[in-house]
This record gives sequence, structure tokens and C-alpha cells, in this order.
Amino acid sequence: MSGVNEIRSAFLDYFAKNGHEVVSSGPLVPRNDPTLMFTNAGMVQFKNVFTGLEKRDYSRATTSQKCVRAGGKHNDLDNVGYTARHHTFFEMLGNFSFGDYFKDRAIELAWNLITREFGLPADRLLVTVYAEDDQAFDLWKKIAGLPESKILRIPTSDNFWAMGDTGPCGPCSEIFYDHGDHIWGGPPGSAEEDGDRFIEVWNLVFMQYEQLASERIDLPRPSIDTGMGLERIAAVLQGVHDNYDIDLFRALIAASENATGVDAEGKARASHRVIADHLRSTSFLIADGVLPSNEGRGYVLRRIMRRAMRHAHLLGATEPLMWKLVPVLVREMGRAFPELARAEALITETLKLEETRFRKTLERGLSLLDDATGDMREGAELDGETAFKLYDTYGFPLDLTQDALRARGISVDTGGFNTAMERQKAEARAAWAGSGEAATDTVWYALKERVGATEFLGYETEASEGIV
Ligand code: ATP
Ligand code: MG
Ligand code: MG
Ligand code: MG
Repeated sequence: MSGVNEIRSAFLDYFAKNGHEVVSSGPLVPRNDPTLMFTNAGMVQFKNVFTGLEKRDYSRATTSQKCVRAGGKHNDLDNVGYTARHHTFFEMLGNFSFGDYFKDRAIELAWNLITREFGLPADRLLVTVYAEDDQAFDLWKKIAGLPESKILRIPTSDNFWAMGDTGPCGPCSEIFYDHGDHIWGGPPGSAEEDGDRFIEVWNLVFMQYEQLASERIDLPRPSIDTGMGLERIAAVLQGVHDNYDIDLFRALIAASENATGVDAEGKARASHRVIADHLRSTSFLIADGVLPSNEGRGYVLRRIMRRAMRHAHLLGATEPLMWKLVPVLVREMGRAFPELARAEALITETLKLEETRFRKTLERGLSLLDDATGDMREGAELDGETAFKLYDTYGFPLDLTQDALRARGISVDTGGFNTAMERQKAEARAAWAGSGEAATDTVWYALKERVGATEFLGYETEASEGIV
């Protein structure tokens, strides 16, 4: 039962057996919420069902939802490669009750799944509840038989969920797995909670209130929304501590090792992880219709792609790499997500083209970065002007520059970067202000300057390869 694909099925089957409709994942670009960058939780596709705006012919559902957390409120991009538990793309397994069962049944279903079906030892588990939620505290005691010392009351917003400034909200309960005292970290709420010893696997949300403009009222029919990270529970079930050691990631990392000829050891480990992770987020985003661009969702995609490409470069890759890994990803995940298999050619071409373009400026940008930081020590800061030049002329997203300097403990003056960016925008606006015929040329040249080398090399590349 232990492969990722089997665990996903086991979860969905369990909730189907318990009267839940199995619903497919919603797309990564949410259809019903233009304010949200990417779908970042299982409940997103059900937002209007929870508020009552939309009716379905079922009141219980279960899904494995594709999620991306690399922009907007939830951004785990900087964690990837460095923590055991974060991805930019991951699957969130969930069960939902739309005004049907509530807290007691939700806790019972969750507890039975992980301890009976999945067989996790109860003494490795601990849970948190919202500090004021006595009801949840008592239910965990009664249903799971957990001692009080394993039910932690958390007073912060970490354990209180809200859909927005107004709308459904309520307390949460998070289930943690203790991977053992050989790993650094403390229980939630402690000073060492950022460590990776206690890993949150499942988050239950008890939607019992509605926040109105001026007061909070009880919902007449409270609801349940839960989310469990598939990769995290897979790590527990496969007896490994780290998400990147589960079957799926081992296959992706092996492909990346193969393609580069570099083992995932020492310094190369983080790079292989970043590549494997970013391969998933970029491929799934492209499959859901996002293409690399210089703004909005497309720019987030481009940032993720370029970041991965710098890591490929670090591993010594002298040719585009990411596209070569796509077949392995499709082999591992294409059955569960047919849209991935359908988009394989588009994903491959998009990766190849973007990587071919970016390679031209990547090396030059990196040597500029080396020159600028060569004699800097740990704790130093790169000036914003240089970071902006890397962005503007060499197509380096700010977070790529930050990531490149991270290992050396050098930070970037983001204030200075933003100032340089604003100045350039102001100059572009001033150029537009003339607006008459005569201004057109000026604007064109200003734009050409601004778009810089990346795009122009890009066009050459396309032409020489006969793509246009
Ligand atoms: P954490 O505190 O570990 O960052 P979270 O509280 O932000 O997690 P939730 O928003 O509660 O996470 O999401 C529900 C579940 O989805 C989590 O319990 C976890 O198992 C999983 N999850 C959340 N973020 C990620 C991620 N970046 N990569 C992999 N799994 C994740
Ligand atoms: Mg988080
Ligand atoms: Mg959490
Ligand atoms: Mg949580």
C-alpha cells in the first residue's frame, strides 16, 4: 500500500466507503476566484458550496487537490530544498462536509484512518486545538483517547481559519507526527517548532461561524474542511523522515541524477530537490494553461522555472535539462492526472524554449554576480542596483538572486531593488507622456532597453530554431 499512488487511492476509497463523493481535483488556476493566484488548498473549488451560493447533489466530498504555494499569501518557495516538508506543488488530500457531519465525526474519521487503516502508532501522534475550543479538546480525549499532554492548545491564528475578512471561519485542529528525537525540532507552540521533528500531516477546519462586517455569528449548519499533505503522509507510511525520500521523489531525483551525472549528495542535494520540486510545479501549471510571461501567474511560473535552471547549471548541466525529466514525471503521475499526460508535448517544448533562452543570459548574469560579490563575507548585503541590473538585463528574478546568494549568507537590499524598479517605471511613464506620433520611437527604444537582452536573445533563438 505504500506507494504515493496507492496512498492517494486508499484515502479516497476510505472516504468513499464513508459516504463521500469522490470529486476530481480542481485546476491550479481557480475558476471561481480571480483574486487567488493559484489553488492552494482543497477547499478552493468548494468555496461557493461552503457559503451556500452554490448547491451540489452531495453533502460530503473527498478529493486529492493539486496545490501550488509559490506566490500570494501562502508562499513556500524559499523553503523548497531546505526543509523536509515543503513543496511548491503538492497534493492535498481532503474530506469535506457541507453542513452534514461536524467536529465529532470529522475527528473520528481522521483518527480511524490514520491509526487503523494506515496503522500509525498513537504514541507518535499529537494534536493541536484552538485555545478556546474546549469541545475539540474533549473530543480528542474521548474519541482518540489521547492524554491531555498530547492535545496542545494554540492561541494564535495558526489554529483559527477564515476564508477572508468576512465569510465562514472557525477553529482548526492540526495532527502532527513525531519523527523521533534524532531530528531537531520541538512540538508546535514551542521555541523549536520550526524544526522538522514534529511534522504537521493533517489539518482539520471546523467551520462553525460566519464573520459579518461587525459581528461573528454561529453558522446554522457548520461544515468541515480538511487537508492532508499526500507527500507528508507518504513519508510517514514509507518510514522516511523527508518528503524528498518518498518513492515519487526518489524517481524524479534519480532522473535528475541521471541527466546530470551528479549524485544527490552534499551540496548537490538541495539542487536536485529544487529541480524535482520545480519540475512538478512548472509542469502542472503549464498543463493547466499557465505559460511563462513577465507578469502575474506567468511570471511566477517563469520565476520557478528559472530558479530550477540555475540549480541545473550549478550541477554542471551544459544543455537544457528540465524537459528531459518530463517523461519520468508523466510516468509517475500521468495516470492520476491525465491532463499532465495530455500536455506532455506542450510542457516539454515550453521548458526547452525557456531554458534555451535563459541559458544565454544565465551564465553572464552569474559571472556579474560573482564579480559583484566576490569579496563579500557572510552577513553582507548586495546592493539593490546590481540586483536590479541582473533582473533587468539578464532576466534574473529577485528570488533567484537571493537563492544564489543564500548559501554564502549574503542578502539582497530589496528596498534598493524596488527603488530601482520604481525609477524605471517612472521613466517609462514619462516616455509615454508625450503620446504624440513623435513619441513612438522614443517609447520603442525605451522598451527595448527595458526588456533587455533576455527577450531579444529569445527572439533570435526562436528564429534560428525555426520555431516562429
Ligand atoms: P506548515 O505549517 O507545515 O507550513 P500549513 O499549516 O501551512 O503547513 P495547511 O495550510 O494547514 O498547511 O495545509 C494542509 C496540509 O497540507 C498540511 O497539514 C500539510 O500536510 C500540507 N501542506 C501544506 N503546505 C505544504 C507544502 N508547501 N508542501 C507539502 N505539503 C504541504
Ligand atoms: Mg505553511
Ligand atoms: Mg501549520
Ligand atoms: Mg495547517
